[in-house]
Amino acid sequence: MIDNLKLKLITLDGPVAVGKSSVGRLLAKRLGFSFFDTGLMYRAFTWKVLRLNACHDSEEGLSHLANITKFDFVPCQEGFLSVILDGEDVSSKLFCPEIEERVFVVSKVAGVRQVMVSKQRKLARQGRLVMAGRDIGTVVLPWAELKIFLTASVKERAERRYKELLGREKNVDYSIVLANLKERDENDSRRGISPLKPDAHAIIIDTDGLALEQVVDKIYKLAEGLDD
Ligand code: C5P
Repeated sequence: MIDNLKLKLITLDGPVAVGKSSVGRLLAKRLGFSFFDTGLMYRAFTWKVLRLNACHDSEEGLSHLANITKFDFVPCQEGFLSVILDGEDVSSKLFCPEIEERVFVVSKVAGVRQVMVSKQRKLARQGRLVMAGRDIGTVVLPWAELKIFLTASVKERAERRYKELLGREKNVDYSIVLANLKERDENDSRRGISPLKPDAHAIIIDTDGLALEQVVDKIYKLAEGLDD
C-alpha cells in the first residue's frame, strides 16, 4: 500500500471489455483505495428507464428523471462500491443484453451526464479512489494525478467478454458479442458529449497479450513513481 498524501485519484478509461473493472478492482486493493465503476450508474439508470418504459422520452424528460433518481454508493466487498437506485439494490440486474442495447439512449443525454458527473465528483471527494469509465480523465476528474487509458484489440476484447458471458449463461453467440461490442464502442466514441477518448495527459496501456496482474503492476509502478 502506498501511504502518501500526493496520490488521491486514478482515472481508468477505455472501451467495452478492456478490463477496466478487473484492473481497477485489483489496483485499488493493492493501493488501499476504493474502486468505483461509473458504468454501473449508467446501467442502473437505463434499468430504471426500461422499467418505466421511458426510452422514447425527450432529453428533458430523461434529464428530469435522472435528477429525481436517488443514487447511493454502498461498499460491498473489499473497497468495491455498488449502486443502490432509489433504495433498491439493482447490482445483479445490470449486466444483460437489454441494458447494453439501450444504455446509449441515456448516456448521450447532456442533462443525464450532468447528474452523473456531479455525483461522481462528490464520491471522489470522499477519499482515495480509482474511478473507471469513459470520460473520467477528460471530464469527470480532469485534475486526477494519474490518468490511465486502457486499450486492446477488438478481437481480444470480444474473446474476453465471450468467455465472461459463457461463465454466466450457456447460450452465447460469439458473433453477437462481437457485433454488440463494436456497436457500443461506436456509440460511445461518436457521441457529441463526453465521447470515449484518452485525455491528453493519459498514459495509454495496450493490454493485448498482458495478464491482469501485469497491467495492474504497470499502473502500480506509475503510481509509485508519482510518489517518489
Ligand atoms: O463500462 P460499462 O460497459 O459498464 O458501461 C456501460 C455504458 O455506460 C457504456 O457503454 C457507456 O455508454 C456508458 N458510460 C458512459 N460514461 C461512463 C461510463 C459508462 O457513457 N463514464
